[in-house]
Amino acid sequence: MIEGQSIAIIGAGIGGLAAALALRLRGADVKVFEQAEALGEVGAGLQISPNGAAVLKALGVAPQLRALSLRAKAVDLCDYRQGRLVCRLDLARYVPDLEYCFVHRADLVQLLYEACRAKGVAFEFSQTVSDLGAPDAPRITTQSGLSCTPDFVVGADGVKSMMRPALGNMSVPRFSGQVAWRAIVPNTCDHPDHAVVHMAPGRHMVSYPLRDRSGVNLVMVQERSQWAEEGWAQRDAPRNVQAAFCDFGGMAKSLLGGLDKVHLWGLFLHPVASCWGQGKMALVGDAAHPTLPFLAQGANMALEDAWVFAGSLDTQAPLQQRLDVYQARRKARVERTVRAAVGNAWKYHLSAPPLRWAAHSAMRAFAAIAPRQLVGQFDWLYRHDVIAEQS
Ligand SMILES: Cc1cc2nc3c(=O)[nH]c(=O)nc-3n(C[C@H](O)[C@H](O)[C@H](O)COP(=O)(O)OP(=O)(O)OC[C@H]3O[C@@H](n4cnc5c(N)ncnc54)[C@H](O)[C@@H]3O)c2cc1C
Repeated sequence: MIEGQSIAIIGAGIGGLAAALALRLRGADVKVFEQAEALGEVGAGLQISPNGAAVLKALGVAPQLRALSLRAKAVDLCDYRQGRLVCRLDLARYVPDLEYCFVHRADLVQLLYEACRAKGVAFEFSQTVSDLGAPDAPRITTQSGLSCTPDFVVGADGVKSMMRPALGNMSVPRFSGQVAWRAIVPNTCDHPDHAVVHMAPGRHMVSYPLRDRSGVNLVMVQERSQWAEEGWAQRDAPRNVQAAFCDFGGMAKSLLGGLDKVHLWGLFLHPVASCWGQGKMALVGDAAHPTLPFLAQGANMALEDAWVFAGSLDTQAPLQQRLDVYQARRKARVERTVRAAVGNAWKYHLSAPPLRWAAHSAMRAFAAIAPRQLVGQFDWLYRHDVIAEQS
């Protein structure tokens, strides 16, 4: 049982905050260490699919999520030239009971932070953890000299996790040959409440509205050999994106014209961690399994991890057995998700005209004949309910 146990969490991202809340709701004494000074307006849009929304509901924040997000009605796959629709996954019509929404990352982080504070989770900002101690004897030390010896430590410290190698996961990330830019632009084209994937040879762009629909979130992906750093803070000039996507027409063209502040990040392939928990330490979220963004599952998998981790830890089995249960419940699902994300880029980026034409025609035909099956191919992902699984 974890009631009264002291648990330190490294990182106040979505994984760390959701884990903090889930553990606190089970009675643990939780403190979060975050390197940033505060939880500011960082990041851009996230898609929360029904599997992630189920966790937020179980954490008691569904009403706040609804107030801050837009309900997604469909996912449209379009050709890049004039924006012609290839096929539509009609979320509103075929999965009315499931919530799929668009939310600003900063709003979701703030919402989880406030829920944590209301339940008594403690926070230490401007504290970069620099040392963890040993897995069996954790001792957290921060760059500014704070130190503590909690009963357990959770590494929710993202893609450049320090706990990941500390648990023996030594793999080196490999550049995927793709980079992504992200930006929020003014909604000058009355963008529908759809996620629109504009597909082009070697590139694609995803757009969807955010908040009060005054802005549109854009992610532009390009295959290229020139390497770019992995991380969320690197800026780039709008003209570089506009040049790379200059042949896009229709709505995409007008959205690209509104670019002002643009971030660039290199997309890297990381093997899923082979060890998720050892001694008195465990990983959640990107720290265990960074994924390419092509299935929009980074935040959703972190939410699922957080819930499953808290439930797995809160039993009377020997500690290592609890950690093994956590890993066994998560690893295969996460690996499947990471693989599916890699596969999507290939589908979106088809180059050879005959293959591209044939693939788009097949998608159109499938959508017309079997629209339910088109959405249903994602049932394994969206309808998976970690709350029901655990109860
Ligand atoms: C600044 C930022 C912006 C992002 N923007 C987007 C976006 O626009 N769209 C999108 O789809 N995804 C975005 N992401 C990624 C997305 O949030 C994650 O893929 C997903 O939510 C999983 O979250 P996570 O909690 O595992 O990791 P993250 O969200 O990466 O959170 C990790 C947290 O750990 C903190 N941290 C790391 N090392 C230490 C340390 N040594 N000591 C203390 N704290 C530490 C980081 O500051 C961060 O707050 C962003 C992530 C970050 C950090």
